[in-house]
Amino acid sequence: MRFKDIIVMVTGGGNGIGRGIATRFASEGAKIAVCDINESWGNQTLDRVREMGSSGSFYPVDVTDLDQIEQTVRQIVFDYGRIDVLINSAGITIPGFVIDFKESDWNRMIDINLKGVIACSQAVARVMVQQRSGNIIQIASESGKTGKQLFAIYASTKFGVIGFSQGLAAELAPFGVRVNSVCPGIVHTDMWKQLDKDLARIHGTSEGDALQERIKNIPLGRLETPEDVAGLVAFLASDDAKYMTGQAINITGGREVH
Ligand code: NAD
Repeated sequence: MRFKDIIVMVTGGGNGIGRGIATRFASEGAKIAVCDINESWGNQTLDRVREMGSSGSFYPVDVTDLDQIEQTVRQIVFDYGRIDVLINSAGITIPGFVIDFKESDWNRMIDINLKGVIACSQAVARVMVQQRSGNIIQIASESGKTGKQLFAIYASTKFGVIGFSQGLAAELAPFGVRVNSVCPGIVHTDMWKQLDKDLARIHGTSEGDALQERIKNIPLGRLETPEDVAGLVAFLASDDAKYMTGQAINITGGREVH
């Protein structure tokens, strides 16, 4: 019960990695503010939170909408009095060659993955500075350290998240607020299931091929789970990591990331 009664806000908490993180914090006693654009998924996460013996609330929010973010943060503070941990997990990926990319697609990725992280971090940082305590943890990616073909635009958003978070960490350190990023590899969520289909279409291969090919290059020999990521996030939010800020930690099953 490391996190008994602390308040954790999770964007993208309705599915995948965000849901895994919400469930993990709930299992250690935290109360969870599940934030997601998809209400039914968000409520499913809340069911998991309750199954863990904890409680929380769902807040419908689109992380590209600054007014909605500010309103949500105000509401969470009204409901719970504080925000101890912010996890920014809302994100999308659209693979494609840069020369073919539609402006609407790269705008959407930048709006959600980068602007959304900046906007949520800014709104919650204002609360944490007043509290003189807090933890912000970004779900970046191995694509925040290495650019690869078909993922150049996605990488631009994740490199951006890591740079932003290093700067924010330096600004918030005097207020007792830590900011770190985690860089997962290939996590078997709905995001990767869709990606596998998209890559099969782009390469003219069969569904499942892209995932199988990647598993071969993972030294630990299996795909990553949301629970793997949640373990690292819980460590970073804990007092065991109280001397860590401004870091971007890889969690890739041993795949080399620079
Ligand atoms: P996912 O698709 O399973 O879940 C993403 C969640 O974000 C969904 O609940 C979705 O409704 C929500 N969301 C999307 N757009 C939103 C918006 N505008 N406002 C609010 N919520 C929104 O994806 P995932 O695999 O859990 O990915 C979570 C994060 O982890 C993303 O930032 C992703 O880039 C990152 N990541 C994923 C992987 C992977 O392999 N799956 C690897 C590295 C990093």
